Amino acid sequence: MELIDGKKISTEIKEEIAKEVKKIVSKGEKRPHLAAILVGHDGGSETYVAHKVKSCEQVGFDSSLIRFENDVTEKELLSKIDELNNDTKIDGFIVQLPIPKHIDEQKIIEAIDPKKDVDGFHPMNVGNMVIGIDTFVSATPAGIIDLLQRYNIETSGKNVVVLGRSNIVGRPMSILLSQKGLDATVTVCHSKTKNLTSIVKQADIIIAAIGIPEFVTKDMVKEGAVIIDVGTTRVKSDLTKSGWKLKGDVKFDEVAEKCSYITPVPGGVGPMTIVSLLKNTLKAAKK
Ligand code: NAP
Repeated sequence: MELIDGKKISTEIKEEIAKEVKKIVSKGEKRPHLAAILVGHDGGSETYVAHKVKSCEQVGFDSSLIRFENDVTEKELLSKIDELNNDTKIDGFIVQLPIPKHIDEQKIIEAIDPKKDVDGFHPMNVGNMVIGIDTFVSATPAGIIDLLQRYNIETSGKNVVVLGRSNIVGRPMSILLSQKGLDATVTVCHSKTKNLTSIVKQADIIIAAIGIPEFVTKDMVKEGAVIIDVGTTRVKSDLTKSGWKLKGDVKFDEVAEKCSYITPVPGGVGPMTIVSLLKNTLKAAKK
C-alpha cells in the first residue's frame, strides 16, 4: 500500500504557483488577490478560512478576509458581493459555506460574478464543467484529480464508485471522472442506493464523500483498490488539546491493508482543496 501524500503534493503545487506569482510581479503586474467572506464563528469554517489566508501568503497572493456576524441580512451580504464583483483589485472571492439558514445559499452563489467564482459553485461554471469547457472547477474534485494524476493512477476504463452526490464534491467528481481524457466508468452512490457493499466492491477506485466516519470498511473494498477519503468529521478525542480530531469516511487501518493507494485524513484531500482554490485564483488573475 502506498500513502497518497496530499500535504507533499500540495506543497509542490504551491511552490509552482509561487514561481508564477514571482514572474507576474516581476513584469510589474499586481499580485493575484483572493477575498473570503466569513459569516459567524463556526469552528470548522474559521479553520478553513485561516488556512486559505495562510496559503495565500505562502504563494505571494494578496488576501482579504471580510467578516459578518450571524445576524447579517441577505441584503447586506448581497451588497458586499456586488462590491467585490466590481472591485478590480479582487481577482476572485469565496463565501465560506455553510451560511446561516435565514439566507438563501443559492441566491448568494448566483450573485457572485462567474468570472470571480473561484469556488466554481456558480451554475454557469458548473454548466461549463459539465460540457467540458475550461472553467473554474469545484476545488475538492479538482484537487482529487491532481492527486490521481501526480501519483500516475490510471483512470481510463477503470470502475470508479463515488460515495455521495453533493454539489460540491460527489456530483462534480463523478462528472469530471467520466469525461473524455479521464475516461472512467463511474457509479454514484447515495443514501437511497441498494446493495451498496456489492457495488463498492466492484470499484477499482473508491471516492468516499459522505461525512460518516469509518463508513467504508475492509469487507467493502476489492483487493488492490485505490481509496480517496474526502470525509472530514470532527469526533471527540481525549488525546488532543482541542478535544476533537478529524475522522475520514474510511476505516483507515483495516482498509489500508487491502488497497494499493490510500489518502490519510488529515493530510490527504484537505490540503489539495486549498491548492485548487489558489490555482483558480491564479487563473482568474491571468484572465
Ligand atoms: P453532504 O452535502 O452532506 O453530502 C453527503 C452525501 O452522502 C449525500 O449525497 C448523501 O446522500 C450521501 N450519503 C449519506 N449517507 C449515506 C449512506 N449511508 N450511504 C451512501 N451515501 C450516503 O456532504 P459533502 O459536502 O459532500 O461532504 C462530504 C464529506 O466530505 C464531509 O465529511 C465533509 O466534511 C467532507 N469534505 C471535505 C473536504 C476536504 O477538503 N477534505 C471538502 C468538502 C467536503 P443523499 O444525497 O441521498 O442525501
